Amino acid sequence: MKRILHAIAIGFLLTYLLSGSAAGLDWRDLDLSDENSALRKGIESGKILDAGEWGAKTFPILAKEIWQNNIHQGQKQPYPLSSYQKKWLTPWLEKWGVDPDEIQIVYEAELLNDHKILDRWPIAIMDQLAGQTFGNIIYLRQAHKSKDGNLLTLLSHEAYHIKQYQELGSIAEFGRKYTQGYVASFFSYENNPMEVEAYDAQDQFRQWLCSQEGWSCN
Ligand SMILES: [Zn+2]
Repeated sequence: MKRILHAIAIGFLLTYLLSGSAAGLDWRDLDLSDENSALRKGIESGKILDAGEWGAKTFPILAKEIWQNNIHQGQKQPYPLSSYQKKWLTPWLEKWGVDPDEIQIVYEAELLNDHKILDRWPIAIMDQLAGQTFGNIIYLRQAHKSKDGNLLTLLSHEAYHIKQYQELGSIAEFGRKYTQGYVASFFSYENNPMEVEAYDAQDQFRQWLCSQEGWSCN
């Protein structure tokens, strides 16, 4: 009898652990004190079983947080593309199927680096980024600069993420695909297919810009 109870107890414990793992998609369970990304740690420790699902849940939270920090509570104004930015970016945006008027930019933004909820950004290298894009809103660390090729090039990269977001239909689906790509590329930021595409687009834009009259690039 004792043995049966023991078996039942183990069975219960296993069930509990398994259901706990499934529920372990919750980022609150993660130990975020590690230098590595919380996502990587969660996967390696078996707490995150489905990275895509984790991304689909996490990215909308991050999007809300950065919006609150900057626009809602931070009271920073999101700007549309300037006419100068539109002049250079519109041919590319049209090619990508993005309406230039839908893009909003927050300059001198507080990025999700020391994230209040997650403590650390789930993907470690993001601490060093110049910008983060959620939905149609581009958050840039830098101030606005008029007639600046580097800013245009940065915007081309971020706008390509808007294209990806619009095609996928929601921030959750963007988060799913982005996170899956990150894991599939062995936790590499630059080998994530979503980033490879955006950097390709950025390079093409820059090359094109450099070939235009009035621009000189080295
Ligand atoms: Zn990017």
